[in-house]
Amino acid sequence: MQFDSQNIIVTGGTRGIGAGITESFLKAGATVIATYSGNDEAAKSFKVKMANFGEKLVLKKFNVASTSEVEAFFQDYEKNFSSLEVLVNNAGIRRDQIIPSMQESDWDAVIDINLKGTYNMTRFAVLAMMKNRYGRIINMSSVGGKLGLPGQANYAASKAGQIALSLSVSKEVAKRNITVNNVCPGFIETELLADLPEEQVKEYKSQVPMKRFGKVEDVAHAVLFFASRESSYITGTTLDVSGGL
Ligand code: NAP
Repeated sequence: MQFDSQNIIVTGGTRGIGAGITESFLKAGATVIATYSGNDEAAKSFKVKMANFGEKLVLKKFNVASTSEVEAFFQDYEKNFSSLEVLVNNAGIRRDQIIPSMQESDWDAVIDINLKGTYNMTRFAVLAMMKNRYGRIINMSSVGGKLGLPGQANYAASKAGQIALSLSVSKEVAKRNITVNNVCPGFIETELLADLPEEQVKEYKSQVPMKRFGKVEDVAHAVLFFASRESSYITGTTLDVSGGL
């Protein structure tokens, strides 16, 4: 899977799963625009870690939930890059709470970043991809969007929403040679799960048939598969990377 001369946007591409995806694309020859929203320190240290790739890694800071910030990002993108081959909608957050205690702000933040963020980025990316009649969009959903873990009504709804959005958009853009697919990770070792109590981690691990959490590289591999030129007849589908969960 080679991505030489391809331009790839990875939202939330400076930490966790997104950083793993960015690194895999860089190793496969791509230019990667990795975005983030607030953690400058993590972005800076990721850039230092990836120094070998020089100008092939570009960092951009904006909030995917803000339509005006996303629009400004794409206006700037078009001035600097002649094409967009791949978009990975990976930015996402969790704000878990059982439903009676779930505050409106927790509901809104998760839906805005995970689902509206995917809509915002996809909308502008499709316009850029249609010009070249080629594109690959990969949305980072979650098995949580299919299983519905307790305490995750907002998260599960946002992740199921991403799958539904992908199904619909995949049908709209298929004729233009643009594919839209989902990756559904199970439990992957990143900071997103850092707040889970030890007992809950044990409990979750016992539910995974492989009895361990996955690594960011496991998810990156699935993303590169969908993003490859060879995956030209695969669209509107979902691949679980979950150790059998
Ligand atoms: P993470 O380590 O918490 O990293 C999240 C990334 O998203 C960071 O780069 C963060 O930027 C960025 N981000 C957050 N809010 C944003 C916003 N409003 N605008 C732009 N970027 C924003 O998370 P992760 O575990 O790698 O998860 C990545 C994706 O995989 C998420 O969509 C998550 O739902 C999904 N997923 C994860 C797991 C898992 O077990 N880890 C399982 C299933 C699905 P900053 O660095 O600036 O904060």
